[in-house]
Amino acid sequence: MDRTGANLIEDLAVANRILAEYGVIDGYGHVSVRSDRDPARYFLSRAIAPELVTEEDIMEYDLDSTPLDPRGRESVRERFIHGEIYKCRPEVNAVVHNHSPSVIPFGITTQPLRPIFHMASFIGQGVPTFEIRDAEEGTDLLVKTPYLGQALARTLGGKPAALMRGHGAVVVGENLPRAVGRSIYLEISAKLQAQAMAIAGPGGKMVCMDAREVEASVVPQNFARAWNMWRANALARMRLQS
Ligand SMILES: [Zn+2]
Repeated sequence: MDRTGANLIEDLAVANRILAEYGVIDGYGHVSVRSDRDPARYFLSRAIAPELVTEEDIMEYDLDSTPLDPRGRESVRERFIHGEIYKCRPEVNAVVHNHSPSVIPFGITTQPLRPIFHMASFIGQGVPTFEIRDAEEGTDLLVKTPYLGQALARTLGGKPAALMRGHGAVVVGENLPRAVGRSIYLEISAKLQAQAMAIAGPGGKMVCMDAREVEASVVPQNFARAWNMWRANALARMRLQS
């Protein structure tokens, strides 16, 4: 593995730890990154709790989500989320699937998530909700077939994130820092919006970011400074455990 590839695998292990630290993924949920050497492949941890992931747990997949070198390691059942989104979105290089608790209420109601503060301005680009029943009835809500992965990717369309009714969310980005940063701030924003709605009361006014403010904020928002801090802290925790 060349140096770039090695760094990408380390970053993916680190991304698992960061998302676990911030309560975005717990024992479940996962994050993947597209290969920097072959855009038709991606990396994803084997089926273990994200907080325990190390570089040795990272597996490589093709875009049909078939593991290339499983060596007896168990794949996560919902890996099709990742492969099917990478097929539809060539500019996306990182995907997070989570059960982020504060976003769940917005996936089961008609109350939309809104761009309420600048760190989560991407919400203003639209966050659709995936209704799995529209694709298949009577499921356990898990996206564990290529067909369901394709349906989810269609709902996501060109947006930065989609909610999954009664389940969680999927968040994408051009790189890991963006997908991880968006996931953390989506959780924070959902919590803050619920607080703002409670303070405002029924029919009360909330002033959200407008379209021009969203446009001005989304492009430069790459979470670079936060990523460097999150990464350093996660690596320090990993070294303590090893
Ligand atoms: Zn899930």
